[in-house]
Amino acid sequence: MTPDRARGAGPAGERVISRFAPSTTGQAHPGTLLSALLVWLDARSRGGVAILRLEDLDITRTRAEWATDLIDACRWLGLSWDAVLVQSDRRASHEAALDALAAAGRLYPCACSRAARAGGRRAPDGSWAYENTCRGRALPAGGWRDATDAIRARLDDDRIALVDAGGLDLSQTPARDMGDPVVRRRDGVIAYQLAVVVDDFDEQITDVIRGRDIAPSTATQVMLQRLLGLPTPRYRHHFLLLEPGAGKLAKLHGSIPFSELRSRHSGAALCGLLAHAAGLAATTAPCAPGELVAGFDWRRVPTADRVARWTEHGAVGCCADGRRGARPPKNHRRLRQPREVCAEQGLPILVTVAAADPIRSRSPTTSRVDVGGPSMGS
Ligand SMILES: [Zn+2]
Repeated sequence: MTPDRARGAGPAGERVISRFAPSTTGQAHPGTLLSALLVWLDARSRGGVAILRLEDLDITRTRAEWATDLIDACRWLGLSWDAVLVQSDRRASHEAALDALAAAGRLYPCACSRAARAGGRRAPDGSWAYENTCRGRALPAGGWRDATDAIRARLDDDRIALVDAGGLDLSQTPARDMGDPVVRRRDGVIAYQLAVVVDDFDEQITDVIRGRDIAPSTATQVMLQRLLGLPTPRYRHHFLLLEPGAGKLAKLHGSIPFSELRSRHSGAALCGLLAHAAGLAATTAPCAPGELVAGFDWRRVPTADRVARWTEHGAVGCCADGRRGARPPKNHRRLRQPREVCAEQGLPILVTVAAADPIRSRSPTTSRVDVGGPSMGS
């Protein structure tokens, strides 16, 4: 990492264009908004452009009201975007990329089920790796559009050596480690790995900032960029906000949805909590995103995932890097277990208390909306 990169500046003369790209498959939750805030701050602190891209291609899971919800949630937090783009508007560009891959002889149909891979080899993202079993199969005479199976892209078997801007090693041999990616699903949906690469190029994205859960996909995306002759943007993967007891990724296990957040906090209050969790504010005092721009520096942002714990009164706690922190006010009698241990680092939890209604006692974590959370950006 160059000194310039450490300060967050792009190469001389280059305009930073960054995007926050949640999938519209659930309400926004604190982890979603953390990602939005970090993307926005990074762009604004470098005089760059910040785009909101709504990833709505998965017709089996997306809902129009969740797209609206994400826009509203960002506005409520205090974030303004230079453009709001909808991924499903870009079908023609995605199809052109499939045509280019087909012309290069890279596409093949695959009918292998997920169940058939179970018990095989683990991929870096925890899924079952695909063994490129169908590489020898040809597309139908009418091309990929006539295929009734899923379509995969045959990657080069080369190793991708890549370290992101935060020092995270993303190196992989994606064709072997993950297997050739699906680029068009069996149901006709353009697959994430292809759409994200095409859109990042078309939108001239210079910086891809997203949660660490997406990091194992990066080498596959870089390989697809190479096959399509596209440049590789800078990548940075930030820490995740997890929930204790909710498994590895809180966002998949019913984090507090935006409707619940909005009923308990102001946008400024949540911004203060997120800024504190991200190392950008000494306290959890309410603030606006714009107030954080001048002091924004990735060196202040923790690299390890943090546990956010929502109490019965809507308070949130987060790992405190070993320091004891603020205690909850005395009127929060039912606050349970003010200290917990972060599973990843064994650190005590700092319980910081949000501006929540002390009369309501229903725990947000037990009144979750069972929708699954949206991705924290891709
Ligand atoms: Zn197959």
